[in-house]
Parts: sequence; C-alpha cells; structure tokens
Amino acid sequence: MDYKLAVRDNHTADTIINIAGKAGITRIGKGYCTIIAGPCAVESREKYLEIALKVKNMGAHILRGGAFKPRTSPYSFAGLGVEGLKILEEARDITGLPVVTELMDIRDLEQVYRYSDIIQIGSRNMQNFSLLREMGRVDKPIMVKRGLSATIEEWLLAAEYVLCEGNKEVILCERGIRTFEVMTRNTVDIAAVALLKDLSHLPVIVDPSHATGQRNLVKPVAMAALAAGADGLMIEVHQNPEEALSDGPQSLTPDLFRQVVKEARDLAALNKQIFQ
Ligand code: PEP
Ligand code: MN
Repeated sequence: MDYKLAVRDNHTADTIINIAGKAGITRIGKGYCTIIAGPCAVESREKYLEIALKVKNMGAHILRGGAFKPRTSPYSFAGLGVEGLKILEEARDITGLPVVTELMDIRDLEQVYRYSDIIQIGSRNMQNFSLLREMGRVDKPIMVKRGLSATIEEWLLAAEYVLCEGNKEVILCERGIRTFEVMTRNTVDIAAVALLKDLSHLPVIVDPSHATGQRNLVKPVAMAALAAGADGLMIEVHQNPEEALSDGPQSLTPDLFRQVVKEARDLAALNKQIFQ
C-alpha cells in the first residue's frame, strides 16, 4: 500500500513527539500516557482560563480548545477566531501547558501556527488533501483526526500526505465513525487503535467525547482505549456543560474529569506508561 512512511518497517522506531513548553517537555507516543483536555470551544477569556487551570491541576498534560469550529449549521457558534487563539496563548503562558487547536482553513495557518503547539486537522478535513500537504511543510506536530466515515486505510493515507512532505510529527486521533448506530453520536473503533499501534509507528490517541457524544460514556470508552494501547486521550471538559456553546452533552464536569484522570493514571501504570 501507499502508506509507506506511516507504517513500520524493520528500521522504524516508534515516533515520540516532544513538545517543549514552559513547564518542561511534554511527550506523546509509546511509553507515555498523555491527556489532552479542555472545552470544545474557547468561549470567553474568563471561562477558558478558569477551565485551563482546573484541568491542569487535575493532571491534564495538554490544553485543547477550538477557535475555528467546524459546525454543521452555519448559524451555530463557530468560535472566536483569532481572539480565541490569543486566549489559548494566554492559557499556555499561565499554565505552562502546550495547546492544540484546529486549523480549518489554510488562510488561518499563520495565526494558528503562531498560537498553538499542535495543529489539529479535524474529521471534516481529513481528506482535504491540499491542507494536508501544507501541514507537511509546517514544523509543528499535526494531529489528524479520523474522518467521519474514513476507513483506516484512508486515514493512514491522510497521515501519509503530511509525512511525505517532510513533517514527521503526526498524531492519529480516533474519534469514532458513522455507522447505522444512532444511539451514540459515533461508533468508536477500538480495534483500530490496537491495529494501528501494531501497523504504524505513529502515536495514536482517542477522543472519547466526540466518539460517544454522551458524558456518561466518556470514562468507559477512555478506559477501553487505554486498554487497547492508546497513547493518550483527548477529552472535552466544561465548567458548566449545560451552558456550553457547543458539545455540552458530551463535556465532562471538572469532577468527572478528575475521576477519569485517576483511572487513566492507574491504567497507565498497569500498561507501564509514564503519566508525565
Ligand atoms: C474537535 O475536536 O474539536 C472536533 C471538532 O472534533 P472532530 O473533528 O473529531 O469532529
Ligand atoms: Mn467538540
């Protein structure tokens, strides 16, 4: 198959991504359990700084928060744009943690590059091939989320687009796929995690929030992901999910997030992963 750079050959060591931040180096990849947390979207400076500090104190290693949000309806809250990026930068400064945020449109690259440590390519853009190629020319890690209905092969080829342009720092994020099942927002593909850890040298993380769409399913799916060999989790957390401007039903309260971190820490120890 054409995903020759994304898969292991006899010489390829596991890719471990090192992100230098104020609080030291954060690693993603084999041997580490890395937790990314924060709200779906950056909604305001006050709310973001509050939740960023909370998740940091509860053990998160990387902050998340969308400034450019892909929304199904053109009338939904689509993020604060550059103002949101500046809030992320302030949170990064205050917490010392790296941040990941989505780049939707190549026209925003300069700004997203400037204010983030990891650039997220969302599910809806997983086959935006010109965007992927551009990510191959960027000297920052790229997190490629699995497309809404992408096969594992298509997903690996999306990673290959980035790798073949020279950027070796790609993280794969399983976030569930569309199936006939509608009781959950998406159907999480746990086998894909085990398969990819075997086939590829790239870090694989799981987003149990978008994968399920339901707060009460986030912890069990997060644990299943780690048991299957995931290198980390990306979890949505909001101080008041009922009032979230996007993805409230799947967002954890800080208390629930604390419980997930506690169990993830225990599982990481069993898996002999370092919980940084
Ligand atoms: C997100 O993580 O902010 C997001 C929009 O997820 P996805 O692209 O997986 O739907
Ligand atoms: Mn979301």
